[in-house]
Amino acid sequence: MIKTKAGAAEIIQTLKSGGFAAYLVGGCVRDSLLGQEPSEWDITTSARPEAVAKLFKKTIPTGLDYGTVTVILPDGQYEVTTFRSDEQYVDGRHPQNVKFTDDIHRDLSRRDFTINALAYDPESDQLIDDFGGQKDLAAKIIRAVGEPLARFSEDGLRPVRACRFAAKLEFAIEQKTFEAIPKTLGVVKKVAAERLHDELVKMLGAARPSIGFELMRKSGLLVIILPELAGAFGVDQPPQFHKYDVYWHSLYSCDAAPQDSVVLRLAALLHDIGKPACKVDLTFYNHDRVGAEMAETILKRLKFGRDDIDRVKNLIGNHMFDYTAEWSDSAVRRFLRRIGGVGNSADLFALRRADAEAMIKVNNGEYLRELQTRIDKIVEEENALDVKDLKVDGNDVMNALKIPPGPKVGQILNDLLEKVLDDPKLNERETLLRLIKAYA
Ligand code: ATP
Ligand code: MG
Repeated sequence: MIKTKAGAAEIIQTLKSGGFAAYLVGGCVRDSLLGQEPSEWDITTSARPEAVAKLFKKTIPTGLDYGTVTVILPDGQYEVTTFRSDEQYVDGRHPQNVKFTDDIHRDLSRRDFTINALAYDPESDQLIDDFGGQKDLAAKIIRAVGEPLARFSEDGLRPVRACRFAAKLEFAIEQKTFEAIPKTLGVVKKVAAERLHDELVKMLGAARPSIGFELMRKSGLLVIILPELAGAFGVDQPPQFHKYDVYWHSLYSCDAAPQDSVVLRLAALLHDIGKPACKVDLTFYNHDRVGAEMAETILKRLKFGRDDIDRVKNLIGNHMFDYTAEWSDSAVRRFLRRIGGVGNSADLFALRRADAEAMIKVNNGEYLRELQTRIDKIVEEENALDVKDLKVDGNDVMNALKIPPGPKVGQILNDLLEKVLDDPKLNERETLLRLIKAYA
């Protein structure tokens, strides 16, 4: 008996009253049987999209070509998808020529894995399990529905999904299913980057993404999707700090980063991605800056958004800061300015902790607590860390010196900021106006 969310039960009842067949399907059935709370409740039905749209007050035509209508109810949104069959991925990128069917069994047979090919009728408490999905759930196995080679040849995203589900559920990939991956890599190469992006984000949300990345490496997927990370395999590091090579250090850092932050997970995974290219003996000079640039290229290719890319880049570019108690207050302020403000310090420290988790412990992180205390003081005293924190602005500079707008104005403000970073007491309007006069 699956405890069905009220809105999903209501939709199924309405569809059935309209003379259609309707079931819960996919992830929600799988997760419920595992005793986990489903993230979304998907419904599959014999009703065609137009019929679904007519039965409910509020709907969105989410993917009419694929048969999906989103139904909006007070307790949430639900994707209702018409039974489909005979998916064809002509170019290997997106499904094409979707055909609708009235047969739930045909719909289940086009799904990717046995544990995802379960349908459930909450009214009769009937579970449709044509491919041994319950058995595989109990045995913790990801197994393709039907012939793995054929199924992976149809859609190159499925091998990546196999690794994603293996990481998320901590299941093993069944042998024949796994062995089909290296043989179908040509199809994977054709998959649209947007689809890979979504799977990678979900993989990064697993408790231990390392499980998924290692399966991708072993099966040959990683060289295609993240060749830079595959290139870190076997790149050794100084043994006094590291017990892992760059690849495993990256994976375990990623596991140790906060699970609810894709940005921190990405930053941890890629923070040393510049190391293979920068390696000279056992040193990696400049790998932070090289790595930040590489991360940008990688994340653009994988269709991440500008904001996420900038945050990851900033974290990677700054992850090598070397705090000691000897830092002056001015040095702490300059550090904050360099990392783009106090707001970024929490993320940078989280990355640093994740990084340290995957190393031989040479310190206990006390230095981060000490630096945090000093940052707190700077915040409390409202020290200027940016030109816009100065008590004068460009207009003041132009008026005082009778000069027109231009680069000179910015240079003077930057110069004043340098002085204020050294001595915060100078950030008083009268004092700064006096200082400006000296530029005449
Ligand atoms: P999650 O909870 O992580 O979203 P999910 O099972 O809901 O897991 P989705 O990607 O949302 O995964 O897909 C929903 C369902 O659609 C799957 O359970 C599966 O039955 C089917 N499906 C999705 N993508 C494919 C695919 N590429 N090939 C075949 N079936 C697929
Ligand atoms: Mg889903």
